[in-house]
Amino acid sequence: MNENYTNESGFDELEERRRARRQKRRRQVALQRAAFFLGLIILAAGVGFAAFTISRKNSGQGQLSAGNGSTGSGGTAVSTEAPRQTEAPTPQTQETAAAPAEPSTENASDASSGSVLEQARYLAAGYDYDGAIELLKTVPSYESDPEISAAISEFETAKASCVAVDVTTVPHIFYHSLINDTDRAFNVSVLGQGQVDGMNAWMTTIEEFDKITQTMYDNGYVFVRLRDLVVESTDANGNVTFSPNTNLMLPPDKKAVVLSIDDLSYYHSYEAAGYPEKLVLDENGDVKCKYISADGTEQIGDFDVVPRLNTFLEEHPDGAYKGARGLIAMTGYNGVFGYRTDSDYETQENLMEDQRKWLDEHPDFDRQKEIEEATVIANAIKESGWEFASHTWGHLSVTNKTVDELRIDNEKWVNNVQNIVGPVDTIIFAHGNDIGDWQDYSSDNEKFQYFKNAGYNFFCNVDGSVPYWVQIRDNYVRQGRINLDGYMLYQASQGATTVLDNMFTASQVFDSRRPTPVVANGEG
Ligand SMILES: [Zn+2]
Repeated sequence: MNENYTNESGFDELEERRRARRQKRRRQVALQRAAFFLGLIILAAGVGFAAFTISRKNSGQGQLSAGNGSTGSGGTAVSTEAPRQTEAPTPQTQETAAAPAEPSTENASDASSGSVLEQARYLAAGYDYDGAIELLKTVPSYESDPEISAAISEFETAKASCVAVDVTTVPHIFYHSLINDTDRAFNVSVLGQGQVDGMNAWMTTIEEFDKITQTMYDNGYVFVRLRDLVVESTDANGNVTFSPNTNLMLPPDKKAVVLSIDDLSYYHSYEAAGYPEKLVLDENGDVKCKYISADGTEQIGDFDVVPRLNTFLEEHPDGAYKGARGLIAMTGYNGVFGYRTDSDYETQENLMEDQRKWLDEHPDFDRQKEIEEATVIANAIKESGWEFASHTWGHLSVTNKTVDELRIDNEKWVNNVQNIVGPVDTIIFAHGNDIGDWQDYSSDNEKFQYFKNAGYNFFCNVDGSVPYWVQIRDNYVRQGRINLDGYMLYQASQGATTVLDNMFTASQVFDSRRPTPVVANGEG
């Protein structure tokens, strides 16, 4: 079709190259770690043998474990690893023990400074200069190592050059799941016009996502957490209060942006449209998508935002502040991440037609097993820097619901989603709804009071009409989100002035395989 976009095989090649790069990086990190710990072993062995010698001299009876006390404070990962490693060397002592410990210390310093330096650079790249410097100071006699001293002063200079982000002007962008196969996502004869229009308006293609991600990175955008925008404190009565964070520091040429993704459930309704079947872990324990291509080939890879952005940011750690990723807004009615975890599948009550069909096709369905597998995925997602939020269990239009309906829905969310992703304090309203207008949530707003009492402090709506919308108040934080979807990209690519212009040029991003015009379809 269009030469600007990779075809299926080009896409496979891209995937393979990415995987190769990642594996290479992994091997490098593993080697560096190995070198570091080898250094520690040599160092600890030296100390151990020295202590061993002393204890032999003192008691006449050698106990190798006597050497462990030397690294015992346990304050950091580095020092806690060391004692365990001291057990590794075998006491071929007679000759070695006679030798003093000093000669090996220098080797240890060389070996360890290399890998620690690498780790520190990774932290500093993500603007965690304090963490980087702290790590370097764990290296024995770091002051006398010119390379480490130079790095410390380099990080101190970089830190001093940073400026505070104006947290009240930070934009928030969001996506739904990515379209992998435009032939399937826009196939009217299979999906019907209504669903194709929805996909076209709400979703972003893989190619669009990659171009946006690269361009925003090139333009200095850095992902920060929504909670990085505020300082959260708990008063004497246990009430949580918020104030703007005046200490969110980035280099002057960088710009903060918050990210979220909605509806990471792989709804039954997505099935024929070429989305991943579910999230899985690969052989490295990384979150990936299981994707069945149109010809039935099963693939494991970066077929949606979470793994795709993880891969990008591992290669570009300066694209995220202290390892930030984004918020994932979850419903529960079709389960989570492609796992059919909702209690309705078990009780077989209130089932939609597509849920019943799925159950018929999966006679061995075991809800507990689905929950266990989904929990493993949720934990891995959180470990890679993402956070979860409620999107309501039933994808509700909260504006039209009563407080009682919101309560019943939230209880379902707690029982069917929170049990997997853990407690959350953020709600990202579905359909771009909100429980109030642009003015502050007032104390007589019953829906706000309900959500506050249920533990929510961060609230998000959709507002693609302004470049940023942040409301930081004593008792809550609210942010408007910009939809980076087909509808917005189409409008902007047709020459309309939009908030996207600050971030990238929509006409260079818009996927020409989309049916046009892309018509408005509400928010998914
Ligand atoms: Zn949604």
